[in-house]
Amino acid sequence: MERKYVVVTGGVLSGLGKGIAMASIGNLLSSTYKVVPIKCDGYLNVDPGTMNPIEHGEVFVLDDGGEVDMDFGHYERFLGTPCKFEWNLTMGKVFEGVINKERKGDYLGKNVQMIPHVSNWIKDYIFAVGEKNRADVVMIEIGGTIGDIENELYLEAVRSLAREVGRKNILFIHLTYVPIPFGVDEQKSKPTQQSVNLLRQKGIQPDMVIARCSEMLDKSIKDKIASFGNLNSEEVMTGLDVDDIYKIPLVFEKQGMSQLLARKLDIPVKPDLEEWGRLIKNRENADKEITIAIAGKYTRLEDSYASIIEALHHCSSHYSTKINIKWIETSEDKNNSLQGVDGVIVPGGFGSRGTEGKINVIKKCRENKIPFLGLCFGLQMAVIEFARNICEKQGANSTEIDNLCQYPVIDILEEQKSITDKGGTMRLGAHPAILQEGSLVSELYGLTEVSERHRHRYEVNPRFHEMLKENGLILSGMSPDRKLVEFIELPREKHPFFVATQAHPELKSSLFKPAPLFKGFVEAALRRNCCNNI
Ligand code: GLN
Repeated sequence: MERKYVVVTGGVLSGLGKGIAMASIGNLLSSTYKVVPIKCDGYLNVDPGTMNPIEHGEVFVLDDGGEVDMDFGHYERFLGTPCKFEWNLTMGKVFEGVINKERKGDYLGKNVQMIPHVSNWIKDYIFAVGEKNRADVVMIEIGGTIGDIENELYLEAVRSLAREVGRKNILFIHLTYVPIPFGVDEQKSKPTQQSVNLLRQKGIQPDMVIARCSEMLDKSIKDKIASFGNLNSEEVMTGLDVDDIYKIPLVFEKQGMSQLLARKLDIPVKPDLEEWGRLIKNRENADKEITIAIAGKYTRLEDSYASIIEALHHCSSHYSTKINIKWIETSEDKNNSLQGVDGVIVPGGFGSRGTEGKINVIKKCRENKIPFLGLCFGLQMAVIEFARNICEKQGANSTEIDNLCQYPVIDILEEQKSITDKGGTMRLGAHPAILQEGSLVSELYGLTEVSERHRHRYEVNPRFHEMLKENGLILSGMSPDRKLVEFIELPREKHPFFVATQAHPELKSSLFKPAPLFKGFVEAALRRNCCNNI
C-alpha cells in the first residue's frame, strides 16, 4: 500500500478540538493501519517545556523524554501507540534545522528563503518521519487557525506535499465552527464559508469539513457549506459538542466517517469500536458517585492537569462511577476544607507558591485517613509533611522552595546541579523502578518492576532515606541503583490509601488500561464514600 496522509487544519476559532478530531479519526484508522501523528506548532519555542501551563496547558511527556504539546496525550490515548518527540514539530525546531543546514553549507550558493527552503525542510521532515516509522498513514495536525502568520509555512509544505504524493494519497480535513447566535436561533454557515475560502486561497481544497456545533447540522446548512466549499453534502460532518470526548469517534462513525475515509484514500477502513463504546456506556450508566479534590496552583485552567482528569475519567468508565472534581487552589488559602471529599490528589508543580497549602492538605489526609495520591511534586510535599510532623523536623523543606532550609529532605538531583539551561534538561521520560515485594504499590501494578514517565529536577534527599524509613514511611519503589525514591506509601494498617510517586503515571493511563495507582486510589475513595454514606 502506498503511504497515505491525512492533514487536519482549523478555522474560525482556536480551541475547537482539532487534536481530538484528529485523534478520533486516527482511532478509526488505527485498528487496521499503523498511524503516525505529527503535530505542527507555530511557536518559536523548540518545545513547550519552557511554557507556563496556565497559558499553554499541560506539558505532555513521552517515553523518550520529549516534552510535547498536550494533543499528544489525545493521540496516545486514542491511537494506543506511544508517540515520539520527533513527531512534534515546532517553528523553533524548523528554524533550528534550516539554520544548521545553512551553516553546514547545504544551501551553498543559494539565497535561503521561507519558500521553498523552509517549507521544503518541513515537507522532507514529514516524509522522513513517515519513512522511519514505517507509517501506513501519517496524520498531520497544523496548529492554530487558518490565517495565522505562524502556520503559513506548514500550509505551504502540505500543499506541496500533496502535489508530490498525488491527490488519492492525501486527505485534507478542515475543522470549523457553526454558531447558533442568541436570538437568531439558527445555524450560521458564513464563518465556515469564509474559513474554507481562506484555505483555498492557500492552494488547499479541503476534502471534508467538520463543523463543530452544539447540535447536528441541518441538511440545508450542510448543503450550503458543501456548495460554497466545492464539496458533496456527505463530506460535511458535524463535530457535535459532547459531554465526553471519547464519544467523538462514535459521533464521526455514525455519520459515515470510515466509509468516507475508505473512499477518499482508496483503502479499506474497518474500525473496531465495540469495547470503546461499552466503556463509554459504563461511565454514562454510573451507579456510584465520588468527589476527588485536586489541590494545586494552576487550578484556574483545567488543561494544566489534563492527564490527571483523563486518568480519573478512565477509572470512571472502569468502575461505572461518576467522579466529581473539586478544585482546591492552594495558593489562596492554606486551610482548605476537605468536607465531602473522598480522596485527594496533589499533582505536579514548580516553585514555592501554594506549597504550604498543599502540605496542609496532605496532613489532613494523613490524619483523617482520607485516600491520598501524590504525583511528582505531590510526593515531595508528602515527604516534607512526614518529616515535619512525624519525624519532628520542623525545618524540613525542599531546596526548590527554601534553599537554606534546616532539613533539605527534598534536594536537587546530583546530575542537575551543573545544568543552567532550562529547555529539555529535567530528568525526563520513562525510567524504571523496582517495587518492594508485598507493598501496596507492587500489588496495584501486579509487578515488581515498572516504568513510568518523569519530569523533575528534585528528589528525596538520600541523606534522609533512613530517617524516613525509621519513622514508618515505606519507600516502596526505588530506581534500580536504589539511589532515587520513586514510590512511597504508609503502611496499610495505618492508612487506607496513602501513596505517592515521583513519576507521572497519569501520562500512560488509557480508557482500556487505567493507570494502576489511579485505580487503587479510586477504589479506596469508593470504599470511603461507601462507609461515609452508611
Ligand atoms: N518541581 C519539582 C521538581 O522539579 C516537581 C516537578 C513536577 O511536579 N513535575 O522536582
